[in-house]
Amino acid sequence: MEKKGQLIVISGFSGAGKGTVVKELVSKYGYSLSISATTRAPRPGEVDGKDYYFKTEAEFRNLIDYNGLIEWAQYVDNFYGTPRKFVEDELAAGRDVILEIEVQGATIIRKQYPDAMLLFITTKDVATLRERLSGRGSETEEQVRKRLQRAAEESAMIDTYDYIIINDDLNTCIDTVHSVILGGKCKRERNVEFIKALQADFSDEEESNS
Ligand code: ADP
Ligand code: 5GP
Repeated sequence: MEKKGQLIVISGFSGAGKGTVVKELVSKYGYSLSISATTRAPRPGEVDGKDYYFKTEAEFRNLIDYNGLIEWAQYVDNFYGTPRKFVEDELAAGRDVILEIEVQGATIIRKQYPDAMLLFITTKDVATLRERLSGRGSETEEQVRKRLQRAAEESAMIDTYDYIIINDDLNTCIDTVHSVILGGKCKRERNVEFIKALQADFSDEEESNS
């Protein structure tokens, strides 16, 4: 039986470490990772087509107009969106795909893909979040302030997620996320077609024996 891949949404406060966790999930466990489009400027070291598809606002609007994104949202001062084709192709090929996206996008995905698993990654407290976000050194103080303000708003949305994972020790977090995904994939309601096929298999077996 052809089995479609699992869509996995990973969200979390800016600075919680989700980018770090997701990169390791890809290299250690072989998940497919969707590369988003954004109007944000590249950070030092970020590569177009690897970290993001960096777009002008006009190019981004064009992607929306041509239905090229499965979801998009404004986050702080920029637009971010998930290109449609990669996700659809990977799922159809049976591969599990991770979307590392913020909470508004996750809500849209939940509606479009009711089977998607929604995971939220957080630090154990706000002080650790502030430390990591400032320590990354990629945003100005003003941008850090805006992202923390946004994190406070996002905290109200955790209730809409299936799982929450604390990123304290990095390796524990990576392995916990992987285990949660494996566990989620074993849920009975996610395997209805397989169970039906198995039951039919037993019926055939009984018939051939009678
Ligand atoms: P996000 O993608 O959620 O914005 P990053 O992956 O960029 O966050 O991580 C923010 C900062 O925290 C980075 O400097 C990263 O190296 C660091 N970091 C990530 N996970 C941990 C961890 N478990 N312990 C300590 N530092 C971490
Ligand atoms: P950053 O600027 O730190 O790379 O990302 C800012 C926020 O945008 C993060 O919460 C990140 O998960 C989110 N994000 C990245 N790509 C997408 C996307 O394609 N769609 C949505 N909705 N959010 C995204």
